[in-house]
Amino acid sequence: MENCIFCKIVKGEMPAFKVVEGPHSIAFLDIFPVSKGHVLVIPKRHVKQLLELSEEELLEIGKIAQKIGKAVLAGLNCDGFSLVQRNGVAAGQIVPHVHFHVVPRFKGDSLSVWPSGPKAEQGELESVLLALKKFV
Ligand code: 5GP
Ligand code: ZN
Repeated sequence: MENCIFCKIVKGEMPAFKVVEGPHSIAFLDIFPVSKGHVLVIPKRHVKQLLELSEEELLEIGKIAQKIGKAVLAGLNCDGFSLVQRNGVAAGQIVPHVHFHVVPRFKGDSLSVWPSGPKAEQGELESVLLALKKFV
């Protein structure tokens, strides 16, 4: 993809602070970090969303995300980390090249991903379960 900033990073046409690289993916520092040590893990292949990733890519990205999680806990002394991945504009995805955010978390950092909702009605849970089970 010609105008994709993440493809440019993969090709070395744009600079990035690369943390680790595998055959199918790379991890690099987010230049607008929501917390110190915010890392993005992406496939080298240009795909927009999670559903387009191959099993091989998913597996490697999962392993790298885990490795980054370990590294931020050990290297940055954070108290935890969040793994966030957005699909589509409605979910807040801005860069249309699939990416996983590893966000170091610090006690009291008040970085809430979303507010907790009200308790669901039994009937709603049942109908949602039925709707999902048809497709898994
Ligand atoms: P999204 O909102 O699409 O889930 O996340 C896109 C992420 O890419 C944001 O966290 C943003 O800070 C990061 N980002 C945008 N442009 C660049 C860039 O040129 N270099 C790097 N390293 N990160 C970027
Ligand atoms: Zn791309």
